[in-house]
Amino acid sequence: NSAQIGVTGLAVMGRNLARNFARNGYTVALHNRTVARTNALVEEFGHEGDFIAAETAKEFVAALERPRRLVIMVKAGDPTDAVIQEFAPLLEPGDMIIDGGNAHFADTRRRERELREQGIHFVGMGVSGGEEGALNGPSIMPGGPKESYDSLGPMLEKISAKAKDGAPCVTHVGPDGAGHFVKMVHNGIEYADMQLIGEAYQLLRDVAGYSPAQIAEIFRTWNTGRLDSYLIEITAEVLSHVDATTGQPFVDVVVDQAEQKGTGRWTVQIALDLGVPVSGIAEAVFARSLSGHAALREASRGLAGPKASPLSESEAAAFADRVEQALYASKIVSYTQGFHEIAAAREEYDWDIDLGAVSAIWRGGCIIRAAFLDRIRSAYDTRADLPSLLSDETFAQEIADAQDDWREVIVAATRQGVPTPGFAAALAYYDALRAERLPAALTQGQRDFFGAHTYRRTDRDGSFHTLWGGDRSEVDA
Ligand code: NDP
Repeated sequence: NSAQIGVTGLAVMGRNLARNFARNGYTVALHNRTVARTNALVEEFGHEGDFIAAETAKEFVAALERPRRLVIMVKAGDPTDAVIQEFAPLLEPGDMIIDGGNAHFADTRRRERELREQGIHFVGMGVSGGEEGALNGPSIMPGGPKESYDSLGPMLEKISAKAKDGAPCVTHVGPDGAGHFVKMVHNGIEYADMQLIGEAYQLLRDVAGYSPAQIAEIFRTWNTGRLDSYLIEITAEVLSHVDATTGQPFVDVVVDQAEQKGTGRWTVQIALDLGVPVSGIAEAVFARSLSGHAALREASRGLAGPKASPLSESEAAAFADRVEQALYASKIVSYTQGFHEIAAAREEYDWDIDLGAVSAIWRGGCIIRAAFLDRIRSAYDTRADLPSLLSDETFAQEIADAQDDWREVIVAATRQGVPTPGFAAALAYYDALRAERLPAALTQGQRDFFGAHTYRRTDRDGSFHTLWGGDRSEVDA
């Protein structure tokens, strides 16, 4: 009796993924550094399917049918390397190590390269959906060698989430680190989505004067329309929750300092390296950082702000509709930026990534799942080489319809002193992209002035330099 798959690392994610495989009829070998976790899983959930508990790495590997499929679900970083070093010597060519942790894609590229020399297939696999998703169906983003997907793919398709049309939320994303890269950008987009929702909430509260319970109702209504998504749905749940000990809205008793684990920050760091403007995601990461600077915020509390002018009841209702438009338009922009980053990495690393397929596997199971992703997929179905989501006719039209309200909301936020870095960055990106001329021409002039960095001309080819310190004549550079 041997296992089709093994899972090592049985904390919340690994445990639930193992149970998901077992519930789908696979025999699952189990291993964890601390044996107590393995035993606890078998005791509590052993009845759910066929498990083979292993105490040692050797027993674990011996329990797997060949070629072996070994899923690692441990803390990302050094622990992942430690576990690979423990298991790799026990494996044979053709075996597969699948890393389901939140690895940095550059680590995944390195590990894939090293293991390839040994003939081991290394699959960096992004998993989204938290512990709930791991158990009932996550969105899965495997990279690694394409041939690994032949035997692994059908199993992943079984345990993955299914989109509304029944399609499994998993595809072979691309070679080596492509899966983890796409998972990282997914998380970056998730940060941006959450930031935009947060800004909408604060505007509804501080400009429109609604209570958390009223705002929850507004989000519930929005969730029946084009903003229909998991994050909007849970936002309504969180906002309507009342704290049991104080009777206050739950959101008012939580310390307003947002934490982060790092994938949002990576998305921005790599975007800087690739030269891709992901300003919406960057603002979301910065907003979390700013919230955490408690002493700085305390010291700044006395700074002057504008005079508040509350809206009337009818004005507030109209304003809420405008905020919906601003949120939707900004959301289109953050997805545009995120997909641009994936497209740039595809080019840089020579990955064969189908952007439409990526949006399709995010339709179920993951944190950013939303009706909206169907629209993105059809945009890429219509035109696979779309230069940007904003070039899609439908999205362009929707933004055209939303833009007046979007601008009004940012004006109101500015007047009332409510920070909306996400909305404003998205609008600035949109306006910059559509601008006929950008002040970058002036930047080039300045660079040529102080550093002889040269410039190109609009009317003829070549590089030029002006003799700024001399007679200001122009020379070929
Ligand atoms: P943790 O990230 O908390 O990791 C705990 C697990 O790692 C335990 O099984 C632990 O073993 C093992 N471990 C830690 N260090 C070592 C080591 N040096 N050698 C061997 N094993 C080690 O668990 P999670 O379940 O939260 O996450 C697992 C992975 O999934 C992480 O990479 C995470 O980023 C990723 N992920 C998490 C999501 C979530 O919502 N939590 C969502 C998507 C991905 P022991 O029991 O012996 O301590």
